[in-house]
Parts: sequence; C-alpha cells; structure tokens
Amino acid sequence: MRRLIDRLAAGERLTEAEYAALVTGFTPELAQYAAALADDARKKIYGNRIFVRGLIEVGNRCKNDCYYCGIRRSNATVPRYCLTPEEILGCCAEGHALGFRTFVLQGGEGCLSLETVCGLVRRIKRDYPDCAVTLSLGEFPTEAYRAMREAGADRYLLRHETADPAHYRRLHPASMSFENRMRCLRDLKALGFQTGCGFMVGSPFQTPQSLAKDLKFIEGFQPEMCGIGPFLPQKDTPFGAYPGGSGELTCFLLSLLRLMHPHMLIPATTALGTVDPHGREKGILAGANVVMPNLSPTSERKKYALYDHKICTGDESAQCIACMRARMASIGFAVTVDRGDIIL
Ligand code: SAH
Repeated sequence: MRRLIDRLAAGERLTEAEYAALVTGFTPELAQYAAALADDARKKIYGNRIFVRGLIEVGNRCKNDCYYCGIRRSNATVPRYCLTPEEILGCCAEGHALGFRTFVLQGGEGCLSLETVCGLVRRIKRDYPDCAVTLSLGEFPTEAYRAMREAGADRYLLRHETADPAHYRRLHPASMSFENRMRCLRDLKALGFQTGCGFMVGSPFQTPQSLAKDLKFIEGFQPEMCGIGPFLPQKDTPFGAYPGGSGELTCFLLSLLRLMHPHMLIPATTALGTVDPHGREKGILAGANVVMPNLSPTSERKKYALYDHKICTGDESAQCIACMRARMASIGFAVTVDRGDIIL
C-alpha cells in the first residue's frame, strides 16, 4: 500500500483498481504515512498559510429533493428563509472588516433568481474589488453560468456528489441526473470559473469502488478546488437512519487528493468539524489548506440544517473567525488575509 502512496506522491496516475485497493487498505498507520507526505507536498507550495473563505448561506429554499440533504424540498419541518440582497451585502461588509477576501454564496437551488445572483455579484465586485466571489448555488443552464461569469463571479463550487452513475441514482430522485451534474461541471470549467467538485464520505450505498471512481474522476477533471466531508444523517430525510461517515477515512482521502493534485484548494469542512471536535485541525494536518468560517446572520444559521448537530450555528461571525485563527495557530498554521487563489 505504501508503494501506491509513494507513486501518487511521485506524480504518477493510479488505476481505478489501485485507488480502490488504497481505500480498502485504509489503516490509521497508512493514513499517517499519507498525511506526512501530503503535509510536505502542501507546505512546498503554500507554506503554513491557510486560506479563509467567508461562507454566506443565502437561503434554504430548494427545488431539489436530494435524499441526504436536510434542506430538500420535501422536508416540511425546516423553517425556510432566503436572505435579501441587502442582508447578503451586510454579511460581506462585516466579513470584509474581519479580513475576509473571498465570499462564498451558497444556498438551495432556485433560492435566488439568476437576476438577483448577477446583480449581487456585480455589487460585491464593485464594492470590494480586492475580493473573490464564489458561487455554490447548484445546477443551472449553460447560459445562466455564462451570465454569472460575465457579472464577475470568480469561482463555482458544485460537488459532483459521486462519480458512479448507479450510486448517483440512489442518492437523488429521478428528476436529477448524473449527466446534468457533469455537464454543469464541464460548463463551469469551460467558462473560466475556478471550479470545485467533491463528494461525501460514507454516503449510503457508497463502496470502495465508487470512491475509486471519485478519485479517478478528480484525477482527470483537475478541478482548482475539491470539497469532501463525511455524510451526516439529518433525521427528517430518507437517509435519517443511516450511519454517518468516518472522519478518519475523510482525512485519508484528503491526503490522497493533496498528493494527486498538490496545488488544489482543499477545505477542511464544517462536516469534518462536526464528526470530530478537532476534525478541521486534523483535516489541515492531513493536507487541506482552506477553512470556511460562517458569515451568515446568526438568526438564520440553524435553518441551514443540511445535517443534524452542525457546529458553529450559534456564534457571531467575529467569533467564528477568531476561533478559526486560534485553531489554526494551535497546529502551527496561519490564516491569511487575501483572495487565496490557487498557486500554479
Ligand atoms: N444547492 C447547492 C449547495 C448544496 S449544500 C448545490 O447543489 O451545490 C453543499 C453540500 O453539502 C452538498 O453538495 C453536499 O455534498 C453536502 N451535504 C448535503 N447534505 C449533507 C449531509 N446530510 N451530510 C453531509 N454533507 C451534506
């Protein structure tokens, strides 16, 4: 197994069967081996700098019905909200003063109209020309993505969720398709967005083979960003009784991603911080180089309930960034104040 990790670290590509063997062969010792190499690889490019993104959860209204997600359309128990453009701009103002130079607007699909999104992007880019804007608002037609790009959006996050079409069908209703998700990702890249994909670790029906497909897909797609985190059940969804994913396996996969694409921007996610109180620190030590503290208004935080027991839902934005700075400093890393573009 170490030989496979050495080959990855040497810049070699692996076969799908080899990726599956790595996943099956996961042990804490192997993970430690991979993490040490990943830490080296990341330090050579980014030093001890950690990039920070201000996450603004713009709303939880959603037209989709993903079986794993707490803000799916059919969940009638979650109170719905959608921030106004003024509220979102208020979050940016607060974030800018706190040192954020990237704003990530994430939300349920269809929550903000295309016109609203484009208007907001133009306003943010005009008011904060030193900032990057990242969108994470789901699937749109090609022309809509083009309009967002022309309005000035720099980056787009759209997790592919799983690179195995049969697995995709078990996580989503028939109204959604693997083909359209992949079309979106190709469009985003072609339009010049810095593009992020990603997947959940331990989602129901996931196998080492489907994870191997995820790794092989990311190897070929070469995204600028990749977000992964453990699946966590949300009690009012069809997957509410399934077990959550493993933080340890997530960290091992973070290391493999870092070794595969040493320059990639990889967050230590909130979901990782939810399965383990030191999950984000462990994610950084395994090879991640981005953190995304929450900038959403405290009054709405709890409603963006993708999964149960989500952390940081009660804190003010200033507390979130201060907490993150302290966490990173405790492991010898420094949160930086800049856009944090990929270094190529
Ligand atoms: N509507 C946007 C944003 C979705 S929320 C979009 O489609 O991209 C962002 C990510 O949260 C999702 O891509 C999914 O991977 C993750 N997520 C959703 N439900 C989750 C759960 N129960 N556990 C862990 N992660 C989850």
